[in-house]
Amino acid sequence: MRVAMIGTGYVGLVSGTCFSEFGHSVVCVDNDQSKIERLLRGEIPIYEPGLEDLVARNVRAGRLGFTSDLAEAVRGAEVVFIAVGTPSRRGDGHADLSYVFEAVRQVALAADGYRLVVTKSTVPVGTGGRVRALLAETRPEIEFDVASNPEFLREGSAIEDFMRPDRVVAGTDSDRARDLMTELYRPLFLMETPIVHTTIESAELIKYAANAFLATKITFINEMADLCEKVGANVHDIARGIGLDGRIGRKFLHAGPGFGGSCFPKDTRALVSSAQQYGAPLTLVEQVVSSNEARKRRMAERVVAAAGGSLRDKTVGVLGLTFKPNTDDMREAPSLDIIPALLRAGARVRAYDPEGMTEARRLLTGVTWAADAYDALEGADVAVLITEWNQFRALDLDRVKAVMKTPVMVDLRNVYAPSEMVGRGFTYTSIGRPTPG
Ligand code: NAD
Repeated sequence: MRVAMIGTGYVGLVSGTCFSEFGHSVVCVDNDQSKIERLLRGEIPIYEPGLEDLVARNVRAGRLGFTSDLAEAVRGAEVVFIAVGTPSRRGDGHADLSYVFEAVRQVALAADGYRLVVTKSTVPVGTGGRVRALLAETRPEIEFDVASNPEFLREGSAIEDFMRPDRVVAGTDSDRARDLMTELYRPLFLMETPIVHTTIESAELIKYAANAFLATKITFINEMADLCEKVGANVHDIARGIGLDGRIGRKFLHAGPGFGGSCFPKDTRALVSSAQQYGAPLTLVEQVVSSNEARKRRMAERVVAAAGGSLRDKTVGVLGLTFKPNTDDMREAPSLDIIPALLRAGARVRAYDPEGMTEARRLLTGVTWAADAYDALEGADVAVLITEWNQFRALDLDRVKAVMKTPVMVDLRNVYAPSEMVGRGFTYTSIGRPTPG
């Protein structure tokens, strides 16, 4: 099948590349000319493990191409995916659909016959109807189908997630669209991946419901961690003790500094906004949003406490900036709340991240950028571990102690064992776990 993928970001580039790996002929489009130029030179504009090889292989096989000419890509395709960004609209938290509608308008103008237009972007329930109306209004003489095919991949393991998903959700309202979606994902059905065929509205809502549910699970265990700290219980034991119950499940029960990233914060806000708009408020999700925002803001207070009550003229070494490991994505990362709060409290901040520093430099000022973890901790009064990159899980703790001014660590990801850290002479605090001694 011939596919055009409009938007070549984390989702568009991975999905487009994986569709070409399935054997389809894919052209990825972006209006960011520099992104396309880099891709045409064989460079990958994002950090995603395994992507470079997969792109190179499919480009070589002639199944994957890149262009900034949307019209050309749409004319050469029967299925057109929309994978542009849907960030939070300032003020009301609703999803900003301007990129989606602009892309749809351009697709309509370029189409020279029937097209199936599929939204892969996360869009609020009801958007499919608006996409259909825009297509019909722009090109009344052309027949279009609309489908919703939300994406569930995770940055950092995006290829594996796309190639071996737990399920594919396809929202359609015609047999032709349903058949095309089935054909597109046929290689996955051969591996017995369940396909959930629904209406367009249900498919749109499934994506938000999934993210809101996962965000709720994280927020639940984070609040449990706060209670654990008050009563001397251990949140790891709580997570294991409840997670082994098959009805609950062990995933997404890791206490930490609060969720960030390009999806959970904006999608929970957008769902809250849609639900209010339709007069069916989701009060539980509203609470998750506010609890998480407050949590991220509170994390700096732990560092102040670990430093003995004041950060004035103290140095804080920060390990990890991205919202999670194995990505360069800084969108709504907890570090973006924590570091400015540390600076406001009078600290000097030295920070290091394996992949996120280019973007972090744009977003944070007043930070000294370090060459590696030990450089970040050089002369530090406190170390704060914000993102659990593998290289921070296996630090040479003797070296850490030697380079720091005082061996104090605030581990916001519970990477280290409290008893071991104390045994090695660190003053150590983590999330929801008692520290011995
Ligand atoms: P992104 O910002 O990385 O990529 C979007 C791309 O679209 C950008 O490169 C931008 O230049 C391009 N673009 C915008 N308007 C365009 C136009 N008119 N024509 C051509 N290109 C255009 O965003 P992303 O992280 O890939 O997210 C895309 C969508 O997928 C969002 O709705 C997001 O919520 C959803 N999603 C993201 C993830 C994730 O992990 N990042 C996972 C699941 C779903």
